[in-house]
Order: sequence, then structure tokens, then C-alpha cells
Amino acid sequence: MSKSLSAPSISDFNQSLLGFLQASPTPFHATSSMVSILLSAGYTELFEDQAWQLKEQAGYFIRRNDSSIIAIWLADKSQALRLVGAHTDSPCLKVKPNASLCGKGYFQLGVEVYGGALLAPWFDRDLSLAGRVHVRIDGKIESALVNFERAIATVPSLAIHLDREANKGRTINPQTQLPPVLSIAGAKDKDLNSILMAEVARQLAKENPGSEEQLESILDYELFFYDTQPPAIIGLDNEFIASARLDNLLSCFIGLQSLLESDKSQNKLLICTDHEEVGSASACGAQGPFLQQVMERIWPSNEDRNRIIAGSMMISADNAHGIHPNFSDRHDQNHGPMLNQGPVIKVNANQRYATNSLTSAIFKQLCDDVGVSYQTFVTRTDMGCGSTIGPITASEVGIETIDIGVPTFGMHSIRELAGSEDAFELTKVLKHFFEKASLTE
Ligand SMILES: [Zn+2]
Repeated sequence: MSKSLSAPSISDFNQSLLGFLQASPTPFHATSSMVSILLSAGYTELFEDQAWQLKEQAGYFIRRNDSSIIAIWLADKSQALRLVGAHTDSPCLKVKPNASLCGKGYFQLGVEVYGGALLAPWFDRDLSLAGRVHVRIDGKIESALVNFERAIATVPSLAIHLDREANKGRTINPQTQLPPVLSIAGAKDKDLNSILMAEVARQLAKENPGSEEQLESILDYELFFYDTQPPAIIGLDNEFIASARLDNLLSCFIGLQSLLESDKSQNKLLICTDHEEVGSASACGAQGPFLQQVMERIWPSNEDRNRIIAGSMMISADNAHGIHPNFSDRHDQNHGPMLNQGPVIKVNANQRYATNSLTSAIFKQLCDDVGVSYQTFVTRTDMGCGSTIGPITASEVGIETIDIGVPTFGMHSIRELAGSEDAFELTKVLKHFFEKASLTE
């Protein structure tokens, strides 16, 4: 059996996690961050429009739409597969196509709300802008990642003097109240395209001096606002991690660390897909054919592939709701996961989570094997339940699946909160999942 990488200490682990969150303001950047880590671990990129020559005892990864990624370690093609799944996207404000607004003397950008964002926390933040831009450069269409990095916008609150009812259940109109303010418009109208041209040229000049002169035009973009406040360890005794996008870049990071730190004895696969927050129905989302098509190319024979699927298991990792001390009535009295008390097994009678008693038993055994405590979440019976990629992947591919995740507060806020020990503990469990010889023994 090959030696695995030595496991880092919890503080090194958390510092790497904070760095990953900071470097990944959009699904495109998250995928690019994972690509860099996989390349430095010796994984080879496979391209979907080319023929594949796969070897055993080798690591590969495949990108789709620059925002979803599958990484696979092929130990022995006759073995079943251990899968971990997560998602790369998070709720946020996405810039509209014709976004520039200059009507009131200020330069603003029109935005759509991407996913189920908590809108109130977006006010009074120092916002930056990042995403993917398609440009024409030297006569060709090319894509470029762009990240302004510095704070260039804000959504100012309305003073309480102008809305005395503000603290009494104020509603937010996303069309009229959310367009961020970028600058004072001045005499000359500003427009996003020329700002993007300048920014892309600046980034090209930095990466490859001279190439900026070939830049002809901006054709289109997918741009998202994000909070520039860096991720941080906070709390009197450093108990918490505060950051944007913990849902679900935390799980992407855990999955990737587990994949790379575990030994090389098992076939293991990490899938991180975009568009979970809007239902996963896209070419690169969990409801699309990405995983199925990759598996068809690794195991072209139906008979072989169906045998592999029947023996495989997937852990779908996405954050859970910790019980909030100020809102404890929102949880079932026997199912209130605490921060820093271990990963949460998510259960739902209506298959909003894919967990069943077999996959739950296997996960509990994995936790026991490595001395990690676990908790269980089921929603109050008089409340609806969220969902994730677990049931979607299970129903698309037919793999036994469990839904688990790290307990957090403020899910879908611009700044969420997790325990500073849970990510590290869950990594131990997933690493063990990726290397245990038999999951039922
Ligand atoms: Zn999520």
C-alpha cells in the first residue's frame, strides 16, 4: 500500500481552509483553486472532447463549464468506488447583462439574486466583484477569470430616521433596493464594459506582459459580488470560523483534503458541482449527466459499470443547521446539532436527504473507527426541509448515498459561522472512508 501524505495539524488545516475560501469568491475560482491543488498533487487533467487513456494507480480530474470538477484516483478498475460530493456555488448577487445604472447621479449595477440568499446581511458590506469573462482576443473567443479583489461597491442601508419601521420586519425589494453603488457617476456616464476591459487588460498584463494589446472586446460575463472581509477564526477561545461561502466550499475543501491525504488503495472520486443553490439542473450540475458520463468512459461496459455502481457509496457533504441559542425552537427538541460536536447525519422521510439506515450505519462506523463524534439532524415535522445533491445524485446514478455535513449558523448569509474543529474532524472520517478496505466490516 502506498504511503499517504502526513496529516496537517488542526491550525495548519484551518489556515489552508481560510486561504481556500479567500481565493475562491465564485464557483469558477473555486474550481480553479482545486485544479491548482490537484496539479501539485500529481493529478492529470482529462478533457471531455479528447480520447482518454486511463491507467491504474493514477489520479485524474475533469472540469466542466470551469465551475464543476470531478477528481478521481483509479487504484484498480475492478474495485467499487468511494465518492464524496459537494457543491461549488453559494447564494449571492449576480450582475445583470445590461447592468449599468447611472440615473440618480451614482454609478450602480443591476443585480439578480442567485439562489436563496439571506438579503439583509448584504447591506453595508465592502463588496468586490469576480467571475468569468468571455473576451475576443486576437480574433478568438477566450475565457478569463476576473477578480477585482479590492472593495469597489457597497449596498448602503437606509437611515432609520427615514424608515422608523426598519426594525419591525422590514421587507427587501431586490429589484429596487439591492443595486450596489460603485461610484459617483460624474459628468460622463460610466459603463461596466469599459471597466471590465481595463480590468482584464490589467490582469493580462500581469500574467503575460504584452498579451493585453491583443484584447479586442468583452463579449459576455458571469460576475458576482462578494464580501471582501477575509475569512477568520473568531470567538473567545477561537471556537468559530466566520466566512462567506462556508456552504459549501467548506465541504469542497474537506473532500479534496481527504482525497489527497488518504492512501492509494481504493478507487475514490470527488465531485464538486455548480448550480446546487438553484436546483442542480444544468449541464454541469448534479442533475446533469456529468458524473454518469465520466463513469461511462471509465467503465464503458454496462455490465461492469452497473456492478461498480452496485458496490459503491457516496457521501454527499453539505453543511447542516446547528441549533441557534436565540432560535432554539426552530429545531426538533431531540435533533439540535451543536457546533464543534462533530459531523451531522441528515435524515428526511421524504427523501430530501438520501440517507438510509445502511449508509448511516456505515458512516457511524467510520466515525467510531477514527474516534469522531457524530450528530443527527431531522427537521421539525411542522417545517419544510432543504435539500442537496445527495438525493439528486442517488436518483440519477443509483449509488447508495448519505447526506452529512458540518453544523453551521446563518446558512446563506454573506457571513456564515462554523465550529473551528468540525471541518478537521470530518476530514478524518472522509479520509478513512477513502481508504477503509471494507465499509461493512
Ligand atoms: Zn449547500
